Amino acid sequence: MRAFAYEGLPARVVFGQGSIARLREMVAAVGGSRALLLSTARQADNAAGVCAAAGAPVVGHFAGAIMHTPIEVTERALAELERTGADSVISFGGGSTIGLGKALALRTDVPQVAVATTYAGSEMTPVLGETDAGRKTTQRSPRVLPEAVIYDVDLTLGLRPEISVTSGLNAMAHAVEGLYARDTNPVMQLMAEEAVRVLAHNLPLITVNPACIEARSETLYAAWLCGMVLGSTGMALHHKLCHILGGTFDLPHAETHSVILPHALAFNAPAVPHAMTALTRAFDGSDPIASLAALVHRIGAPTALRDIGMPQDGIEAAADQAVENPYWNPRKIDRESVRLLIERAYLGKKPEA
Ligand code: NAD
Repeated sequence: MRAFAYEGLPARVVFGQGSIARLREMVAAVGGSRALLLSTARQADNAAGVCAAAGAPVVGHFAGAIMHTPIEVTERALAELERTGADSVISFGGGSTIGLGKALALRTDVPQVAVATTYAGSEMTPVLGETDAGRKTTQRSPRVLPEAVIYDVDLTLGLRPEISVTSGLNAMAHAVEGLYARDTNPVMQLMAEEAVRVLAHNLPLITVNPACIEARSETLYAAWLCGMVLGSTGMALHHKLCHILGGTFDLPHAETHSVILPHALAFNAPAVPHAMTALTRAFDGSDPIASLAALVHRIGAPTALRDIGMPQDGIEAAADQAVENPYWNPRKIDRESVRLLIERAYLGKKPEA
């Protein structure tokens, strides 16, 4: 018999090509009339130009968002929020920029409009990861969930193909773990299966033609689904390992997810027959582990931790950390099996159970 609890997260979502034109309306909808624009330095000009063209009521621009939301960056952005007297923020970018908006909301309750330009999914979650003196902590709070989100495919066209595919696999990881999460439910399982199917079909199309609006739009739709799954269910071994590896060795976020996902799925497969059935459907009837490994290869995503900056002598330390603080996973984790998993991922070997 099924047994589950379901709680929907409140958020206003506008999806579609050209939907950035509704930015002013979304700022007003969250109760704002003076917005602080947030972005990375790399996206600064684009963010400012797009928001100006959309007539957004921007009273200041903080373009210092970086990965992992360091506290010192948040403090500088807070000062800017106060100096400008802004009553809302527009977080224009991927998980790094959206994380900064969440960090401001945690401290001030300022309403956020997130304009998502990657597939990471942070805009749909009440989760915030922050770093203080290099130490990353994660918390879950309804205060940090953005009140409104805009998904406009036009804003994703500048995402380079190599970042697009790893970001897409980062999204897929949320869906895969959402399928077998301890607190999963039928709604999330429907979303997760659909998301994997859409990503598996469209990520290869983006590598062939990065300007393909249809493939980009479908991928963004899947990313939205994956973000909702991430925000609504607890994650397991895959996300735990990526958190450890990223935090300890400063590995790039999306690339780490790309490398680990086939290995984490292969490890958990024997314990999650329902999820494997859903994934088999999503991969058009093929074996999910082989299909995922083939997809990673086909779209040119990294397959070995050693290729993205992990030191070989980090394998043992990562295995220690993976069993240090117990956390839920569908298959019991012991140090030797997790060490073997990390070693295979380090070397780029075939995923095994
Ligand atoms: P990111 O936000 O760091 O962006 C990667 C790079 O791409 C940046 O230089 C950015 O300026 C650039 N960029 C983004 N969109 C672009 C576009 N459309 N065109 C051109 N360049 C673009 O990357 P990310 O993978 O989206 O986010 C990673 C961060 O988000 C990590 O810190 C991760 O921990 C966090 N995250 C948090 C959650 C959550 O729920 N709290 C979920 C996913 C990721």
